[in-house]
Amino acid sequence: MYEFELGPIRPPSEAYSILLRITRNCPWNKCAFCPVYKNEKFSLRSVEEIKNDIDSMFQIYSKIQAKVNLETGGYMSDEIISSLINDDKIPHQYLQQMLFWMHYGLKSLFLQDADSMVVKSSDMIEILNYTKSKFPMIDRITCYSRSKTLVVKTIDELKNIRAAGLSRIHIGMESGSDDVLKLIRKGVTGAEHITAGKKVVEAGFELSEYFMPGLGGRKFTSENARETAKVLNAVNPSFIRVRTTTPVPGTDLFTMMEKGEWEPLTETEKVEELRNMIEQLDGITSFVQSDHMMNLIEDSNGKLPEEKDKILAPLNKFLQMSLDDQECFIVGRRTGRLRFLSDYSRNKDLIELRDKVKEKFGSIDNAAAALSISSL
Ligand code: SF4
Repeated sequence: MYEFELGPIRPPSEAYSILLRITRNCPWNKCAFCPVYKNEKFSLRSVEEIKNDIDSMFQIYSKIQAKVNLETGGYMSDEIISSLINDDKIPHQYLQQMLFWMHYGLKSLFLQDADSMVVKSSDMIEILNYTKSKFPMIDRITCYSRSKTLVVKTIDELKNIRAAGLSRIHIGMESGSDDVLKLIRKGVTGAEHITAGKKVVEAGFELSEYFMPGLGGRKFTSENARETAKVLNAVNPSFIRVRTTTPVPGTDLFTMMEKGEWEPLTETEKVEELRNMIEQLDGITSFVQSDHMMNLIEDSNGKLPEEKDKILAPLNKFLQMSLDDQECFIVGRRTGRLRFLSDYSRNKDLIELRDKVKEKFGSIDNAAAALSISSL
């Protein structure tokens, strides 16, 4: 059988990874801002099912390799692709996944879905060992997990999973503030984020912690920055990844906003909050990465502590721009005309576009929200 199950999402940093679904959906599924698994029921997949998926991947890979070696001596041709689809009956979507992965060197694999560490540790080790036995060339295996799940794992369990090949864990921390975490129903406290993060680091994993500027709304903006920095300073994750808050229709956060129970920050205020949080990072060696299209400023990247000024410079530059320039940049970025702040220069087209969207949406922030949502 040439099929394996695929879940809906992966982090952008896993764009070149093959996906192995070991659970379905999210065991928590209550975060007020999250639209991803709404109305989907969580389930574990059996180790046997997962091994069957790994076998399918291996069969597709072997078939491709054999044809390429035999027919062209090493490179892929249109004829080979047609033959794999038509003669070998490999479904297009799985063939595409495997070709893409092979193109990028079969180096990394991402375990789906939202909280893979919820799997029994012995099962996780069996899955990792089996994966490595079929694909020994993989050098990075990663997954999402929740701090709440990780706090109950022992250091020995985590070390054994690390030794079996899982190398990086992505945690949706979102905020370090208990008020914000409660407001958005993350089901975890700042203290638990610290305990979980420290355990992951101690066990030898690379750790990505995600921060959401603007998640506490206007009421908690200072607290969101301050308490998040406290958690990150205690954990010292490998990566701090920025995911700017964007209320999505259909989520509870969007409803709270409509009812006036949660007041969103403007685009500029979210940049201020991010700057405020980064300024309070101290004594850590994390890499700060603004690697998502929801972030207004994608240029803000660098290694702490030596590149702190470099990380802050684009945020400061934006905040020091005139209101006119800020608006033109926001419109350029949110309509996809600009990617980086460093690409921005004031011009007639952007000014006209700014005036047009302002007229249509009433304000730049209304326009930015609508445009951001439509790009999701
Ligand atoms: S834990 Fe993650 S996937 Fe689950 S509801 Fe929260 S944000 Fe969404």
